[in-house]
Amino acid sequence: MSAHPNLPSYLNPADLGPWATFLEQVDRVLPHLGRLSVWADTLRRPKRALIVDVPIHMDDGTVRHFEGYRVQHNVSRGPGKGGVRYHPGVTLSEVMALAGWMTVKNAALNLPYGGAKGGIRVDPKQLSMSELERITRRYTSEIGIIIGPERDIPAPDVNTNERIMAWMMDTYSMNVGSTSTGVVTGKPLSLGGSLGRRDATGRGCFVVTREAMQRMGMEMKGARVAIQGFGNVGNAAARVFHDNGARIVAIQDAAGSIYRPDGIDPQALTAFLARRPGATLLDYPGVERISNDQFWEVDCEVMLPAALENQITAENAGRIRAKLVVEGANGPTTPQAEDILLARGTIILPDVLANAGGVTVSYFEWVQNASSFFWTEADINARLDRALSEAFRAIWDLAQERKLPLRTAAFVIACTRVLEARELRGLYP
Ligand code: NAD
Repeated sequence: MSAHPNLPSYLNPADLGPWATFLEQVDRVLPHLGRLSVWADTLRRPKRALIVDVPIHMDDGTVRHFEGYRVQHNVSRGPGKGGVRYHPGVTLSEVMALAGWMTVKNAALNLPYGGAKGGIRVDPKQLSMSELERITRRYTSEIGIIIGPERDIPAPDVNTNERIMAWMMDTYSMNVGSTSTGVVTGKPLSLGGSLGRRDATGRGCFVVTREAMQRMGMEMKGARVAIQGFGNVGNAAARVFHDNGARIVAIQDAAGSIYRPDGIDPQALTAFLARRPGATLLDYPGVERISNDQFWEVDCEVMLPAALENQITAENAGRIRAKLVVEGANGPTTPQAEDILLARGTIILPDVLANAGGVTVSYFEWVQNASSFFWTEADINARLDRALSEAFRAIWDLAQERKLPLRTAAFVIACTRVLEARELRGLYP
């Protein structure tokens, strides 16, 4: 018997992956939802989970089949919204968890969306550019029966980018017979993308950290920041923190970890990596290489995981010295690690708030596409700052008032919105 009530039969109870974390987070919020908790299973089961076979011709003439997924966890408040991940470790239960977090994130920010996510179980680094294009187009056609600007709007996630969004937009548009810019966000600017989208998730991490630091009496200037992941989120976060006076003292990515106590210039590191194809962080001059284990013990004020799930565990949580853990990644902290950090007085800015900058500017992109009227970057950044600061304030104040961890407070606000919508819509028929 599973410890989780009403588990769908299509999941293996012994191997739930991040879905177990999501279920545990739902269990933690239910006592705070009053009468709405009768709708708990709305959160415990995705509305729709599509598994697709994605066959493509490889460059060598063979045919290979890949597994693809699109999960719409909830659409009570509006169309599904969430990224697409290309990674060899993608599973149905991982995509379900990521979709569930999108439901909560979109509601926490009061965006008019439900939550969705997609993925392909593939290592894109093993594919040529034309194989990458073929897998993207075939996957888009396969999930085309459930996506659309008013149904479900994909966006970039791990190992997907503007290039891939352009192919997705084109494939969907070809299939429906008209150009549909609003079907995906995170597109290139010349195809209806939004200014400010590329850095939005990292910028949002900075905004919520700044707000937390103000309330905690901490200074941004000179604050030491350690970042795991130097991709879309980690790279942008590093630049925005650096530009605002913080010091990036350690960075870890898939290649390893580097450390420099007086700060790494993220712009210079990015330029170095761009100039030297094949080079990794570890080739960067003037930094100390440290082990991936030592990374978690680095003396710093802010620890910003921006890579994958389950990185802060019961094993390393006790060694983290930062006062603030800012979840740039989705689901980087296990519930057991969260308990350890909270017991030590560490403040965790939860993923559903800390990395919501990306979907917030995706929403701005979708609105601009629908109205064919485009905003300035200054306007977008100001609106992003306002949206995240307001969401932060509501979550922080509720956490103080009810003595809750910030994650639970964020879930209370978000799940109340989702389940109120669920209840008002009623059951059909
Ligand atoms: P990305 O593919 O651009 O970058 C991922 C980074 O993680 C790379 O630097 C990679 O080297 C590193 N990495 C991979 N495996 C690692 C490992 N085992 N140890 C250390 N580092 C490792 O992905 P991204 O878009 O930056 O997404 C990162 C996280 O942020 C994911 O959890 C994603 O769901 C979340 N997120 C992304 C966005 C977005 O707008 N892209 C928005 C919200 C949340």
